[in-house]
Amino acid sequence: MDLGIRNRHEQHCPVCEQLLNDKGALMSARQRSVRDLVRQLRAVCLLSFCLPLSFRRDLDETIRRVPHVSAAELSRIETVARHTLDAMTIAGFRRSLDQYAEIAAEIGHSGFPMMWASKFHIDSEWFSDLGALRQDWHIYPPHTRFGVDAIGDVSTLEWRLLEATLFEDMAMSWNEATAAACDEDKGVKLGDAKIPSKKFAALKRSTIRAAFSFLEAYVNGIASDTLVTNPDTTKFSAGALELLRERGADGNVKMNAPSPKGEGFAFD
Ligand SMILES: [Zn+2]
Repeated sequence: MDLGIRNRHEQHCPVCEQLLNDKGALMSARQRSVRDLVRQLRAVCLLSFCLPLSFRRDLDETIRRVPHVSAAELSRIETVARHTLDAMTIAGFRRSLDQYAEIAAEIGHSGFPMMWASKFHIDSEWFSDLGALRQDWHIYPPHTRFGVDAIGDVSTLEWRLLEATLFEDMAMSWNEATAAACDEDKGVKLGDAKIPSKKFAALKRSTIRAAFSFLEAYVNGIASDTLVTNPDTTKFSAGALELLRERGADGNVKMNAPSPKGEGFAFD
């Protein structure tokens, strides 16, 4: 984390007003409005994950040079930005262009290299139909978190799902167990010679533990998605709600093993 550096504006900032003017370069109202438009376009692209690195650099460079270009070039920049934004409205803008720019500035100045937003948040607060711009959008469950790097140069789609990580843990443990397999019936003696078979057994147990963690995370992900996508919880029975929230009606934590949770979700 490089707290500070990003907030001190030692360099040109693509998401806010600061240091956008070169020393002494006063901008006209026209330059300012075109610069704001490009910044809004950059914010919409950033928040909709349609900002490949080359485009990000183009936009940053355009924002930087707005005070220095000719009137004709200014008009060209404005036309291209407007057309691009018009084409992107198929994503269902839930905010004004100014608000997108504000969100991008807030993320850029948070002090964190990357801010994470859940798919549910993005769908309900930013864009109503991001699938129109990103064809793979529907494959992610609502609790998937997406990384937004407003100031740096991470332009790949960064996403995190705990169950996906735990699945990988399980798969890696399994591969290690398979590679360490040894036949306990043949030639196992007392002492150090037992270590290979102990290692094999330990890796098998790790694989089983990893499988339980993966299953629990998977089931919890379904519970979380069910809760965020169903704000009206009156349709759930008290028992189902307790399983979903892992809390009793009194608000106290009530943990459950993955198995009853999985069955509860299926039948309630
Ligand atoms: Zn800034």
